[in-house]
Amino acid sequence: MANLAILGGTRVVPENQPLYVRPWPPRDEATAEKLKELYMSGQWSFNSPMEQEFENEFAKYHGTKYAIFMANGTTTLECSLAALGVGPGDEVIVPALTWMATALSAFYVGANPVIVDIDPKTLCMDPAAMEAAITPRTKAIIPVHVYGSTADLEKILAIADKHGIPVVEDCAHMQGGFWNGRGVGSWGKVGSFSFQQSKTMASGEGGICITSDPELAEKIYLLKHIGYSRGVKQGQARHAPEGLICHNYRATAFQALILLEQLKGLHDLIETYGKHARLLTDLTKDIPGLRIQEPGRLANPQGYYSFHFIFDGEQYNGIDVKTINAACTAEGLGIPNGTHGPVYKHPLFNLKPGQFRFGTGNNCPVCEKIFPRTLGISHQVLTDENTMIKLAEILHKVTSNLDELRQYQASQNK
Ligand SMILES: *Cc1c(COP(=O)(O)O)cnc(C)c1O
Repeated sequence: MANLAILGGTRVVPENQPLYVRPWPPRDEATAEKLKELYMSGQWSFNSPMEQEFENEFAKYHGTKYAIFMANGTTTLECSLAALGVGPGDEVIVPALTWMATALSAFYVGANPVIVDIDPKTLCMDPAAMEAAITPRTKAIIPVHVYGSTADLEKILAIADKHGIPVVEDCAHMQGGFWNGRGVGSWGKVGSFSFQQSKTMASGEGGICITSDPELAEKIYLLKHIGYSRGVKQGQARHAPEGLICHNYRATAFQALILLEQLKGLHDLIETYGKHARLLTDLTKDIPGLRIQEPGRLANPQGYYSFHFIFDGEQYNGIDVKTINAACTAEGLGIPNGTHGPVYKHPLFNLKPGQFRFGTGNNCPVCEKIFPRTLGISHQVLTDENTMIKLAEILHKVTSNLDELRQYQASQNK
């Protein structure tokens, strides 16, 4: 008789007692009532009071003077680069492990992304690889605070400052995260966040730039509002600065309201995620060959979009992480592989060599080696203590039955 549920053994989590995973996106009646009021008010867009309130609160939380709310977390990156004057002939350094938007934003402004490798422990951009990629053409650097870690802002900013290159933090995964006492996104020239449906704060779509530089704040605002300055009525429009080609990247007050409500609970939510991430780390630390993505060195609290396991001990040689996920799913809770991967290998990434380049060599070996060994749970799974305890039990069981895992995998490959 097999032990693993995937081979007919008894499940860790009985089928009729599913583990708690927070329903996502979060919804509540009080917010629905407020949305109705906002709808009836007719103040839906164009720098409405609700958008301004959300911008002010989000900036305050993360420690900047200004915030510019817009359509999504891709336009925020594009506008950040455009406001910094990045354009054709320039290069922008981005890490290999990220969503495509980070790299494509450089291309949208006519520049070329330069993709550099990641740190094997935090999975964020490796500062040394970043420094090695700098050339006279480098006009911006975009570190990404990925999954459940924070890029080493201290090291990255020291190198960037030495070379006089501005940093744009991609905080799409990191709402509410702090580094060395101040919010992420407040350390670079601009911080960019996404509120797409899956993110830690979610309004279907949405994004925000934060900065304390008044000139950048103004430019980013012009860029997203087709050239109107903040507070300018339609009839009083003036030309945007020479060369600043603006867009309509506005979001609506409805999204701002949903996010403002979520922001009120953000601190407690991040604390809960952190507590459960530490518990899960502790409960799985004696599993041989398994390690956890390390939180940022000076991150406190560390924000979480997801929590990642890395199965790169030799015990797992020949065992696909998909097999591990299938076995965990059969026990009662799946741990899917992330969607990001090495950005240049994503099926939708279609820049050609010449349109982008690698920092050094012709790939990013650390990212290519580690990504296929990772599995992660999304933040919604981090909300419940019992779910952590059961997940650890599942992992202990699955990783102590590696022969059965191999047997199952072989049967699948026939
Ligand atoms: C989601 C995401 C973005 C882009 O956000 P959208 O709102 O989907 O455009 C940018 N960077 C990273 C790392 C992301 O995960």
